[in-house]
Amino acid sequence: MKMLHLTAWLLALLLLRVAGAATGDAAVARGEIEKTLASMSAAILAADVGAYLSHVDDSDPIFLKEQQNWAADLERTPISSITLSIAEEGENRPVRFAADRSTFELVMAWELPPPKDRPEGKPLKREVSFPAAFVRNAATGAWRFAGEHWLVLEHDGPAEPSVDERRIDGGPNDPASPTPSSPHAHRHRARVKHLPGYEQVAARIADALPEIREHVDAEFGVSITRVQEVKVYPTMRHLQASIYLSYVQGLSGWNEPGESIKLLVRPNATELTLKPLLAHEYGHVATFELGPRATDMPWWALEGVAEMSAERFAKDGRASAERAVIRWHERGELADWTAIADFRSTPPALGSHVYKQGQHMLQFLTARVGRAGRIAWLKALAQGQTLDAATRQELGMSFAELDAAWRAHVRQRADLASPQREPPADAEPPTR
Ligand SMILES: [Zn+2]
Repeated sequence: MKMLHLTAWLLALLLLRVAGAATGDAAVARGEIEKTLASMSAAILAADVGAYLSHVDDSDPIFLKEQQNWAADLERTPISSITLSIAEEGENRPVRFAADRSTFELVMAWELPPPKDRPEGKPLKREVSFPAAFVRNAATGAWRFAGEHWLVLEHDGPAEPSVDERRIDGGPNDPASPTPSSPHAHRHRARVKHLPGYEQVAARIADALPEIREHVDAEFGVSITRVQEVKVYPTMRHLQASIYLSYVQGLSGWNEPGESIKLLVRPNATELTLKPLLAHEYGHVATFELGPRATDMPWWALEGVAEMSAERFAKDGRASAERAVIRWHERGELADWTAIADFRSTPPALGSHVYKQGQHMLQFLTARVGRAGRIAWLKALAQGQTLDAATRQELGMSFAELDAAWRAHVRQRADLASPQREPPADAEPPTR
């Protein structure tokens, strides 16, 4: 009896201590993270890229690349003010502070200075919040920002016998065959990161990817076997803020070399909308495989070939480009290629031209030199050749001559279409 009493008492004491320590740990963690947030804000305001990145968890190379690109924009676009704070706990905002990893709703509120061409204009106020994770660095003990607190769907993709397995006469069913769980057994593995409520659309994305990768890889003459990561953002503001703080243009998808494919999708999005969106973004992934200077090629070429990658999966994907250029031709609104060559200087009014005029030129060029010729042309650009040099090399003419031939072709198509044309419909908005 006495023994039992003592045991119960000791147990109660132990439980109290554990609970006390946990509360203490949580409070300490929260305090430390609040200091980290203040330090991150100061680095952002000072446009100190190195200081900001010292607060970023570097264990995931894709997230690190995204954050490096995010931070690099601070040097281009100063931020007038920023507050990073921890939202109060709520039903959809669980808070968990622990010794090594803490998660909570992070609120980011900031102001962008008025655009350069309107210095008298109002600063632009932005605010987003999302479930965020901070991890304690084992070496330094410092807390580091690890991005969104995602749910992660790992998808193996369709099984495919590895080269070794194929060589065995009996194939995968032969008891002597290696088990198909080797990493080579799946060529199209995917990782989809999403927030709660997006489980089903994440699965649809993972299921759609292998077919898209098969098709687009063939269109680019590449074979990309690494795990393809996709991040699903619930709002455009959140997606924009993940790119960088000054990104305010509308979009529904994003990809840059070394980054994940980022998508804005609704939880109920079906294959019909997911496939063209994924194929466009994966078209960028494949383009970036062609050479180290791929991102320097004209913007219309990047978006044009991405739109071409999506043609097979988009309703009316091919014809929509021709309808758009014929309409612009008739209104005298075809863009000069130089006006749509640079993402940062293209006027918003020419946003659709980048995609549809670019796509139409890529179709025209492909009709002349075939898929292999188009790949070689893109490769020359991705290796850093100028538009003119790449065009001379692959088409045996200057780019000005190619442009003239393309405009003559558009004129011809417009003349052919004009007698039976329906009233002009407005161009479909660009996919992103
Ligand atoms: Zn794009």
